[in-house]
Amino acid sequence: MNYIILVNKENALDNKYYPTKLKKIKLKNQNVVYLNRIAYRNLLKLLKDINMEFKEEITIKTGYRPSLSQAFLFNDSGLKNDEIAKPFYSEHQTGLAVDLSIYVKTREIEKNDWLNYEEIINWLTNNAHNYGFIIRYPKNKSSITGYRYKPWHLRYVGKLATFLHQYDLTLEEYYDMFI
Ligand SMILES: [Zn+2]
Repeated sequence: MNYIILVNKENALDNKYYPTKLKKIKLKNQNVVYLNRIAYRNLLKLLKDINMEFKEEITIKTGYRPSLSQAFLFNDSGLKNDEIAKPFYSEHQTGLAVDLSIYVKTREIEKNDWLNYEEIINWLTNNAHNYGFIIRYPKNKSSITGYRYKPWHLRYVGKLATFLHQYDLTLEEYYDMFI
């Protein structure tokens, strides 16, 4: 598995791409999600640690999305192109990307309310790399990533995460410089 694979609006996955080593995960709300098993193992540690810090509950919302469900999302979304990727242009198809949820008591907050949870975002910004994750679509990098700020979207990149964090680089910038 290539943990640093670049998938964005200019770099599609091969149309025969199928992620390996997916793990089936049953969430507390009974939803089933799939994630790459190494990414998941590290995400569990992250979630354990972040949930010790906050009274809100931080959980997995979505993980792997196959091309077909990505197509449905894209067609149904009615959202701007910077919100939902076309099939084969979404990182979620690799099994390495995860969207998180914040629950306040039993209520899940809306994505638009994430910015009110600055301390949680700061924790993710400062610590996600210790678990091999990056905030894939950071603030002030929309022109590079092609996506608006999405603090809930984490991407597993393994050891590279610390380097990207240290130099404040997106995956796109890393590819431009080093690949
Ligand atoms: Zn996402």
